[in-house]
Amino acid sequence: MRQPDGGRVLLTQSRLRAYRECPRLHHLKYIERWRAVRESEALRFGTLVHRGLEAWWRAWRRGEPALALGDALAAVAGRAGDAYEQAKVEEVLRGYDTAWAVDAVQYEVLGVEVPFEAPLLNPETWRSSATWRLAGKVDLLLRRRLDGRVLVCEHKTTSEAMDDPAAAYWARLQMDAQISAYVIGAESLGHEVTDTLYDVALRPGLRPLFATPPENRKYRKDGGLYAGQREADETPDEYRTRVRSSIEESPARYFQRRLIPRTESQIRDFLSDAWQQAAAMRLSERMGHAPRNPDACHRFGQCAYWEACSTGSSPAALPSLYGQIQDVNPELQAQEV
Ligand code: SF4
Repeated sequence: MRQPDGGRVLLTQSRLRAYRECPRLHHLKYIERWRAVRESEALRFGTLVHRGLEAWWRAWRRGEPALALGDALAAVAGRAGDAYEQAKVEEVLRGYDTAWAVDAVQYEVLGVEVPFEAPLLNPETWRSSATWRLAGKVDLLLRRRLDGRVLVCEHKTTSEAMDDPAAAYWARLQMDAQISAYVIGAESLGHEVTDTLYDVALRPGLRPLFATPPENRKYRKDGGLYAGQREADETPDEYRTRVRSSIEESPARYFQRRLIPRTESQIRDFLSDAWQQAAAMRLSERMGHAPRNPDACHRFGQCAYWEACSTGSSPAALPSLYGQIQDVNPELQAQEV
């Protein structure tokens, strides 16, 4: 665990989110430092798209927008779990380029993957925590050419519908902790920021189509298979064509952006929440134990620690599933602004 400033511990949004989800999850992940060996499909997709978008925006920052899509595709080349996932990631990046290349002209890119550290302030006394320091990495810092205002930009992927401005996806962001923390982070870097450009891509729900098992095939009188049945697997190229068509038919379903404002009272509410959560984390660490939250085990798919918790095992007893890491905040490493 990195302790950069007088022994203070870095308090990232991933860490706060882990504690909110389940104190035991936080304990296993950040105190005992266990991580699942295998990444979930949704996490891998989000990580790959994020990687591609980082390369896309770096090209814009260099003043080479014509190279943006090629750079994005090169950044993810060969990294997906299989050829179908590779096609899906690439088509989302291609769709993003089509959707937003014109819009990107209106911004000056001040920084890509910009790290920050800032004091965690007690919202009652405005004194800095002696234990914690807020930390994170802002996906993008943009300056709008029209009025010179600086924006934090965050890329997200989701499987949730978000093309309707009234969708729950957007309503939830009013209380989103990461947005508040990153506004504080941008201010610590010397920028006056009130708005975050929330940049969201929908994860295509289309799945590859595979051959119907021979024993389940049913044939019509003309010798053809019943609707929905197949004799052969869909090829990755056929799958790619289907994903591309879906994106081209309704790009607004796949790509949305909204400006999310932050007021002083929202920032104060965030600090109050973070301060209290940090105190509870500290208490758990001192006790060497944290309660489980069984309501969270399957809330977003199956929790990565399910095999350990559900069998009452320590991750140490399941070496094929879990490994211990040194740095609990790997996402803060290897940045280049
Ligand atoms: S499996 Fe359930 S109890 Fe265990 S860490 Fe995950 S969410 Fe918490």
